[in-house]
Amino acid sequence: MISIQGKGVSVGVAAGKLYFYQRAKSTFDRHIVDDTDAEWARFKSAQEKAIEQLGELAEKARAEAGDEAALLFETHQMMAEDLDFEEAIESMIKDDRLNAEAVVTDVGAQFAEMFASMDDSYMQARAADVKDISGRIVSILSGAVQGGIDSEEPIVLAADDLAPSETVQLDKSKILGFVTSLGSGSSHTAILARTMGIPAIIGVGDLLKEEYAGREVIVDGGTGNLFVDPDDDTRDRLMQKRAELIKRNELLQQLKGQPNITKDGQSIRIYCNIGSPDDVYPVQENDGGGIGLFRSEFLYLECDDYPTEDYQFEAYKKVLSDMNGLEVVIRTLDIGADKQIDYFEMPHEENPALGNRALRICLNRPEIFRTQLRALYRASAYGKLSIMFPMVTSVWEVREAKKMCEQVKKELTAEGIPFSEDVDVGIMIETPAAAVISDRLAKEVDFFSIGTNDLTQYTLACDRQNNDLGRFFNAHHPAVLRLIKMVCDNAHRNGIWCGICGELGADLELTETFLSIGLDELSVSPRSVLPLRQKVRDTYVSVVREGLMNDLLGDQTSL
Ligand code: PEP
Ligand code: MG
Repeated sequence: MISIQGKGVSVGVAAGKLYFYQRAKSTFDRHIVDDTDAEWARFKSAQEKAIEQLGELAEKARAEAGDEAALLFETHQMMAEDLDFEEAIESMIKDDRLNAEAVVTDVGAQFAEMFASMDDSYMQARAADVKDISGRIVSILSGAVQGGIDSEEPIVLAADDLAPSETVQLDKSKILGFVTSLGSGSSHTAILARTMGIPAIIGVGDLLKEEYAGREVIVDGGTGNLFVDPDDDTRDRLMQKRAELIKRNELLQQLKGQPNITKDGQSIRIYCNIGSPDDVYPVQENDGGGIGLFRSEFLYLECDDYPTEDYQFEAYKKVLSDMNGLEVVIRTLDIGADKQIDYFEMPHEENPALGNRALRICLNRPEIFRTQLRALYRASAYGKLSIMFPMVTSVWEVREAKKMCEQVKKELTAEGIPFSEDVDVGIMIETPAAAVISDRLAKEVDFFSIGTNDLTQYTLACDRQNNDLGRFFNAHHPAVLRLIKMVCDNAHRNGIWCGICGELGADLELTETFLSIGLDELSVSPRSVLPLRQKVRDTYVSVVREGLMNDLLGDQTSL
């Protein structure tokens, strides 16, 4: 047995075969062919294979998410055999004598460009579809290794690291656990693992060896232990732990429908963080009271090109209608730093976390922001929407963003498109600047949600992606806790609510502190709702409050 220590970032025990993530490689040469008939036949056979794959995907989507989800793949199937598309490919192979890979790439790009330049937003959205289809055919032609998982049975997924865009595209039903060499606890891969309730270990470094592929492993996402070829004792012990965790979870189920109220009667809202419309199901399963953070940038990460207004509208509408009138806080695009998207064509930055990211991009590129705001306000007619801006540092940014909201509302009114007049607008407090001027910012907005992942990184000058910083990245640092208290006090003085949507919100060691500070809401991964509810219900706030405040604000702080 080989025992490896990493950092556990998503609690749970998983056992299965270790599988290394396959990165998509689709390289090919562009060359002249002698036999154009043979090249055309190669294209036809790849096209047939692509249509077959799309059919399988449609069936899978139908089984998992219904007819509407299947329709996307069925449309792709039709587009793959579209006559104009085929004719353009045939004539280019025959006239230019180019190899099929090059021709499909060029024709795909031409068609995508043609769709993108159309006025109708539905037709514009087809540009991404054409790229997707031609990419699939080229992959088949070039024998490229598909990104992701090529295994029939569920596996424990190993990788050096996974970009958020890679994680979102994985077939989650195949993943029992995650192990990565790199990464950090507040990286987005760790966050996604927690949202999906998949045990995960990160930062195992070069102890994770390719030669372990295919061997039996057990992941303990609580302690960070990875066992390769576990011996019988270890297997028995961990399987027992797994059973206990399952049992504990069953006990927690009894808390469903119960209020989040302390023993001395103080209540707090427990909401959920999600990254996709599909995450509403775990929110409901775990009895989340609403959605406190929908990271809308994951919609952008899933696409090969800017998602259109209609595409976004459908996604937001789905979340709002599925949540049946419960509050849904959607954060506007938070791209940049560790969440890079090729089609944004952002220039290289030395310090991307301090660079052009989130609201800064939206204010610098208003056309992108406007599309998202239009989609959001249109969707507001279907539920209780709140909009939230990330990475604020100054009052003027908030005013400019709010002005764009007003413009969008005016446009929609002029176009006769319905939207709700009851949309709250809030901001994330995730920079020390925003925390320090929270008294002023509170006068501009309806709520604050503290993003402790970034607030910790910027306050402590510790990169949240850097696993080597270890104990220096301490979200319990008094500087962070004092800022949280200051922000919450400023919110309340100005009559607005204040919550936390960073990972710290789920930290049960701080629940008493947060209740004492008087936070109104904690937004956590769906699986953290019931343990947090239990903790709230076990607490007497009045007993903790006085000592805590001395600790937090007094001289002899032990924090
Ligand atoms: C945060 O910074 O705490 C936050 C919730 O946003 P993200 O983790 O997506 O940066
Ligand atoms: Mg953040």
